Order: sequence, then structure tokens, then C-alpha cells
Amino acid sequence: MKLYPETPIVSLPWLSPRETKALQAAELNTVRDILLRIPRRYEDRRTRGGDIASLASGDTVCLRVHVYSAAWRYSYKRYFEVSAGAEDAPHGARLSLRWFNMPYVSKLLAVGMNLYIYGRVREYAGMLTMTNPDFEVMEDEDAGHRLVVAAMGGPLVPAAELSSSGESVHTGRIVPIYRGVSGMSARSYRSCVWRILEHLTDELQSPGGYDVAPSYPYRQAVQDVHFPAAEETQHKARLRFALEECFLCQFRVAWRRRRSQGRPGQVTAVCDAYMQELLGHLPFRLTAAQQRCVHEIRADMAAPQQMNRLLQGDVGSGKTLVALCAMLLAVGSGKTAAMLAPTQILAEQHYRNFCRLLAHTDVALSLRTAGRADDSDITLDAGLVSDTTPRIIVGTHALLYPANRPANLGLAIVDEQHKFGVQQRESFYAAGENPDILVMTATPIPRTLTLTLYGDLDVSVIDELPANRGEIITAMRRPANMKKIIAFMREQLAEGRQIYIVSPLVEESEKSSRRSAVAELTRWQEIFPDESIGLLHGRLSADDKDTVMAAFHSGETRILVATTVVEVGIDVPNATIMLINDADSFGLSQLHQLRGRIGRGQHKSYCILLSDAKPGEPGHDKLQVMCRTLNGFEIAEEDFRLRGPGDVLGTAQSGLGAVRFPEWLADMRLIHRASRDAAAILERDPQLLLPEHRPLRELVRFEADTRVTG
Ligand code: ADP
Ligand code: MG
Repeated sequence: MKLYPETPIVSLPWLSPRETKALQAAELNTVRDILLRIPRRYEDRRTRGGDIASLASGDTVCLRVHVYSAAWRYSYKRYFEVSAGAEDAPHGARLSLRWFNMPYVSKLLAVGMNLYIYGRVREYAGMLTMTNPDFEVMEDEDAGHRLVVAAMGGPLVPAAELSSSGESVHTGRIVPIYRGVSGMSARSYRSCVWRILEHLTDELQSPGGYDVAPSYPYRQAVQDVHFPAAEETQHKARLRFALEECFLCQFRVAWRRRRSQGRPGQVTAVCDAYMQELLGHLPFRLTAAQQRCVHEIRADMAAPQQMNRLLQGDVGSGKTLVALCAMLLAVGSGKTAAMLAPTQILAEQHYRNFCRLLAHTDVALSLRTAGRADDSDITLDAGLVSDTTPRIIVGTHALLYPANRPANLGLAIVDEQHKFGVQQRESFYAAGENPDILVMTATPIPRTLTLTLYGDLDVSVIDELPANRGEIITAMRRPANMKKIIAFMREQLAEGRQIYIVSPLVEESEKSSRRSAVAELTRWQEIFPDESIGLLHGRLSADDKDTVMAAFHSGETRILVATTVVEVGIDVPNATIMLINDADSFGLSQLHQLRGRIGRGQHKSYCILLSDAKPGEPGHDKLQVMCRTLNGFEIAEEDFRLRGPGDVLGTAQSGLGAVRFPEWLADMRLIHRASRDAAAILERDPQLLLPEHRPLRELVRFEADTRVTG
């Protein structure tokens, strides 16, 4: 029997109908599906040297043992016990193996057999024991090195469980641990993978068709990633897959970049009168970094090619103002500019902000939202779709879908919370008359991620905060120190300042001992009986939220107890304390966003991170990072390093699609190498016409198509 990636699992003879159903229910329909399902982790079940006497309670080990006696026992429960020891030491130390609730084990084991066992050693009443160990029975080794595998936790199907090569599958090696498939035992699943690999064709092609590591065949890597012979083998195999995934991703990026460069666009930014008018009215000057970014954007807009640029900057670095300058350049050239926000609330805020900044000008402004309903419901009234009067439109991303696209669009600015998919963005680039596109990231992201998510864009970075910002001091404190903290808060209130108090939960919960905003409100009202205290959380209606925020803005309430809803877009320069309860339960970038709410005025500000985390605990490390730096990019890198890229990026929200080997997302060397490889291929064969590039052409076909039909 030869198996191929496309072989359906229904034709695997060793699967019972029940198991076949279970696999299908888990959407594992072909051999490929199973091969691509990488172990979640591995367990080192290689037998270890040394004798039983040297085992200690608590050791988790794999041993090769001989069965000296086997019998049913009764204590508080009935169990089957095997007394096991080293085969060559009939009078040596013994280990008691005990199986509870597994009567069939008694039918498999008999005196004189040799076994591999794997489990945790415990000492009971002076006896070393193992409860319900995983085991494999070795048949008499002279009789052909065959190994009989016992099915645990399921009906025994001896013939189906044989490993024809005589190698052990579940013990005596580094054993893969897969995510569970409901309806199938871990052991049967592992056996199934093993048997597939035994019969798998040698001519296995990597999915992208392009071999990233010719010296290490793909077929071998598949074998190694499931059943590695050694620790290093598994790393090597994962590295190969990571490199391949990285290559495929960077290849798409390189392809998009090649296509977007030189795509015809509009010549705008010819007149900067509106922009100069705005800048003349501002109470401050642009920072040098803002000026540089405006300059870069302006040069792109003035060129006859379409602009595809990313504007990056830390929280509070003044991205919005740079974006507004770009929009005024477009309006000055007789074009409409659109600003697309990820949510209604942010769109409304941008709109109000722009109205204020442009009050003294005759620039026409429109807000396009669908009330507070689902963003995707938005449709533009016929007026804006046909009216060619140059203006600024603020709305949600739905504005760029073909039916909604405003007339005379010269510039689209996309404010992303990198939730927004690459694929969706793709369709924008080809919008109508190829408007210039400026993408803004809402939060700093690590550099490797920029190259992956935005590698097809030119990048401008605002790497400097406005000089008028007050100093921010960040400190970690234990809740036990509350007295001192309260005294300090009282001082700040006496000086007229305002305070945020943030908690992870809205309401007290049975499941969590964490602080809730609702309970905090009561507590702080007792501490500061003379203050009126606001409460803000996500369960309030939009109107109630507005009322609470307005009161805090005006200083009517000076303390605001909140959940992370204060994270985005709130600007109260008079607030100088950000007190965060259970700070270690927040992610680093969330903490950075929260801290970004203070230090907005000229006063010195204080971010107090309350936590019981002890030095050495992950929560503690995280908070140390916050104390050490104010730089959002540095914090993003640390977040990546501490949590791993897979966790930082819920892949669904990253726009990256499923990432199976997230390790490459943080590895600059892999990304550089992949980009180089991709660029070299496109240099040699820009249209991907060579036969060996056929799979790559398939890979980018979708992206090419979007461009044509746009
Ligand atoms: P971002 O969007 O990058 O987080 P914003 O654009 O919201 O930052 O700017 C934060 C605040 O800083 C706003 O109130 C804005 O008016 C102000 N600001 C922007 N640029 C400057 C500057 N050059 N000098 C002083 N304040 C500035
Ligand atoms: Mg902003």
C-alpha cells in the first residue's frame, strides 16, 4: 500500500468506522490533513539508564522492565498489579505498576513479558509505584523484533496496532503529543500517524512546490516533525517548516510589492495652502519626525504612481495630525480624501477632532457611519457617491467597498488595528482610480511583524513624541502598600489633578479573585467620600458612556473607575495618575495603551502598577518591562519575546491567516532570508512563467486576480 497526501482517510485499513467518523468530524479527511497537523508538544519517553532503585518519587520516566508477577489486588478499589524489575536482576529492586478501571490490561500482561512503561513514579508505604502507566509489550525479541502495542482506553485491536518495523511508537522514544481528537484515543491517533508515515510515498512535495532547503528533503522533515529521533531533529524539522511558511508569506509580500510599485496613480499634493493654514493655526509646531513624515507622504502623492505607504508611530506621537495634513494636500488638489477608522466610535472622534481643527477653513467635512450599528451595514448616500466637490470624509472601512466609494477619491487613509486583513486591504489598493493609500497602525508592532504584515508598503515612522509631554513615572507596587498610594492620590487631587483607576473586570466573579470596576467604585467612594467618582465600562450604553466621559473631561468628576475601555482614544491632559489593579493580568501592549492616557499635559504623571507577582514570575517580568521603558516599539518586541508570537497575534485578528509555525514571526534572520529568496525568484522570472515556478504562480494567482477585477 502506498499513501499519498490526497489519499482519503476512509481508505486507511487500520481505522475502525468509529475512528474514521471521529477524524472526519475533526475535518481530517485526507492523509495531508493529518500530516499537516503538527504535534502540540513532545514527551521524552526514551528509556533511561540506571536501575529502579535509583528512581525517586516524582520522576516521570520511561523504562524497559520485566514482569515478575501479575495479579488482581483489592484495597479501597480493585486494581491490576504488576511487579516489575530489570530483566537481568531477578532479585533486584521492584516497581509496582497499578492499573485501575482497566480490566483489559490483565488480559495483555503476563509474567515473563518485557515492557516499555511510561509514567510518574510515586512512593506509597515505602514502595515505588506507577499508576496507570502507558505501556507497550515487547514480543519475544528473538521472534523477529516485533512489538505488540496494547490499546489503552479503547477496545483492543491487536492486529491494527502492530508497528511493522518493530519500533516502539508510544514509549521508548520522543513521543508526539497531539491536540485531542474527540472520539479517538490519543494512542490510536498516534498509531494512525505512525502507520501513515510507514506507508507514505517517498515523492512528497512541499505544499508551495518551492524547496526552501534542498539538502533536507521534505519527506524526511515530515517524518522528523512527527516522530523525531532526537531533540535536535525535531528542531531542525520545525525550522524547515517555519522557513517554508515564512518564504511563502514573504513571497506573497514581494509579489504584491512588485505589483504595487509603479502602478499608475494620481498626481495630487500640488497645493499646500490648506495645510499651511492648519499649521498656522495650531498652538504648537510639528515635531521634526512629523515634518519628515509629511514630507515623505507629500513626495509620494505628487508622484504619478499610486502611494502605498505605512505610517507608524507610538501612542500619542501625533499620527492623526500627519494624516490630516495629507488629507488637506489632497483637498488642496481638488480631490476628496477619506479617513477610515476601525470602529464607529473612533470615526466619530476623528470627525469631531477634524471639525474643531478645520473650523476656520472652508474645507467640507462629512461623517459616514451607520449609526452605531454593524460597520458593514454602512452605505453611502447617493450624494457623496456622485458629488465631486473635494472634501474630507470620515467613516469606517466599508467606505472603500466598490458600491460605497466616494466620487473623486484621491487619498484613502486606513487607520488599522492590525485586525484588519491583508486580503481586505488588497482590494482597497485597486479601488477605482487608484487613490493614494496611507495605512496607519494604531499600536506599535514588532519590526518582524511590520515586514510581514506591511512588507509591501513603504514605511514612514514618527519616532519622536511632542516635546510638551509631561514626564511619566512608572512603578510597581504591592496592594499592601495602599495607604501610601492613597496619601499620594490625595496630594494630587489637592493640586487639582485627575485620576484613572483601571480594573480587569466589570463585575466581581466567582471564578476570579481579580478586582472588578463595580466593586472598586464602592471602595473608592469610601476612601474619598467628598469626591464624585465616575464609572466607565463596556456594558454601559453609548449615551451613558458619553455622559461619564464628558463629566471626566470637564473635571466635574476627578476620579474615573474603569475597565480597559479607557484604552483607546481618551484624551484628558489633566489626568496624572493611572492606577492599574492586577496589572499583571493585562497584556503588555494593553498596559502601554493605558499608560498612554496620562502624560498628555505638562504635569508630571504617575503610572502605578498594582500586583502581587513575585520576582521571577512572568507577570513580574512583564511589569518590569513597563517600568524600564516608555517606548512602545520596545514594549511590543518584549511582548513578542515573553508571550511568543503565536499568543500575541490571535491569528484570526492578525490578517495573516493560520500560522502553523509562529516561531518565524519573531525571527528577523528567517524573514530576511525568505525575502531575499523571494526577490531573487521574481528578479529572474517576474511573471513566474518558468515551469518550476508554477506552484508559486498558483499561490499568487488570487492576488493577481483581485488586481484585475479590483
Ligand atoms: P496618535 O494618533 O499618534 O496616538 P494623536 O494624533 O492622537 O496621536 O496625538 C495625540 C495628541 O498630541 C493630540 O492631542 C494632538 O493634538 C497632539 N499633538 C500632535 N502633534 C503635536 C505636536 N507636534 N506638538 C504638540 N502636540 C501635538
Ligand atoms: Mg490616534
